[in-house]
Amino acid sequence: MSSTPNPNPNPNPNPNDASDAQDVSWTLRCVECDVAYPGLELRYRCDCGGTLDVIHDVARQREVTTALFDARLGAREGPDRSGVWRYRELVLPVEPETIVSRQEGNTRLYHSPAVASWAGLDAILLKHEGENPTGSFKDRGMTAGVTVARRLGMRRVACASTGNTSASMASYAAVAGMEALVFIPEGKIAYGKLAQSLAYGAHTVQIPGDFDAAMTLVERVCAERGIYLLNSINPFRIEGQKAIGFELLQDLAWQVPDWIVLPGGNLGNSSALYKGLAELLALGLIPRLPRIAVIQAEGASPLYEAWTRSAELVPAPNAETVATAIRIGNPVSWRKSLRGIVATRGVVERVSDQEIVDAKAQVDRAGIGAEPASCATVAGIRKLVGAGVIRPDERVCGILTGNLLKDPELVVGYHRGELPGLVSTYANPPVRARLGQDGQLVWE
Ligand SMILES: *Cc1c(COP(=O)(O)O)cnc(C)c1O
Ligand SMILES: [Zn+2]
Repeated sequence: MSSTPNPNPNPNPNPNDASDAQDVSWTLRCVECDVAYPGLELRYRCDCGGTLDVIHDVARQREVTTALFDARLGAREGPDRSGVWRYRELVLPVEPETIVSRQEGNTRLYHSPAVASWAGLDAILLKHEGENPTGSFKDRGMTAGVTVARRLGMRRVACASTGNTSASMASYAAVAGMEALVFIPEGKIAYGKLAQSLAYGAHTVQIPGDFDAAMTLVERVCAERGIYLLNSINPFRIEGQKAIGFELLQDLAWQVPDWIVLPGGNLGNSSALYKGLAELLALGLIPRLPRIAVIQAEGASPLYEAWTRSAELVPAPNAETVATAIRIGNPVSWRKSLRGIVATRGVVERVSDQEIVDAKAQVDRAGIGAEPASCATVAGIRKLVGAGVIRPDERVCGILTGNLLKDPELVVGYHRGELPGLVSTYANPPVRARLGQDGQLVWE
């Protein structure tokens, strides 16, 4: 990373003010040993190595109502306009002027009779997180993470990524006037995501090896150089990502669905979903919890293995799947995720790459469109309906995590029938035509 000073440093509201640094209403608590730490200090793990949870001041949160959130829906600007900060009392109660936001969230919830009937359901609702500012749900966590980075006075942020985290971090760092450092596994991320990281100005380092190798490297670099780490080990990203569940429930007029289904890679998203829903329940804002189903790709399914065997997670070396966003063999947040699945009487399922690309063709063809990992959701729903785990008349919400345009190479490859080892069941290949001598259209 270059040592040039940031040409456009963003004024930190509380520079060097150590006494003020702990003046927040939440604390951090270790998920392994329960030791508590101040809410704002430069730390991602407990001294024991365990990951940290943000614990809120519940007495303060009791003041919020669903009516308050509904009243904020019409806002034209400011934090209320964001689908994360609209719920700020439950996300992170920070000073509004410190927030780094792109009005993330506010994603649409689609009914799709076509996808429902393919999946074997009477109806389906698809929440399209690919409609976030950088095209994935990662923006919800990133707005919280970068806001905390600013609050801590950090000027540089870093992450290891399968692509969407780096795209999101690069954007939010640029907006906040921070330097961004990105580690990505060479040749293993989708082109749209690499393009975003470069375009938003992140220092982009391609490393040999997989995501798990990039993760190890970035933790070391951050510790050595005082850079703020924004991987999903960062507990504040989880707080922002909780807002997927808040917004979904608000979309549903606070009526709890039977199932929420989403893909699982590093498992931050499913952990966040559960944490947020459990907090809504504890505050009396919803009457019960939906069941959570996490879908993994067969080539990267350590959570599935752990869940089916009721055992500790064993990392899967050489994780492999066309759904690059979930190509992760050693998920950081598996314990938190599994806790949520068990607590909601949820399930873990796994699907093959063939099932993923075929589900994707259906989601795309329905006019909605999403990136491969997102479509593991729909492939998983179909499999769970087929197995009788989800009943056709149940109310099912699937999360589409990323945008169709993230991975154009896979889409074109599928429709041209050029994906190695995969059958293009629903191919829609481009055809050639030209104008003949007689002025007639000639098909080739
Ligand atoms: C990050 C990501 C996932 C996986 O989410 P985890 O929190 O790592 O489980 C799935 N789909 C897309 C599009 C992603 O960007
Ligand atoms: Zn601990």
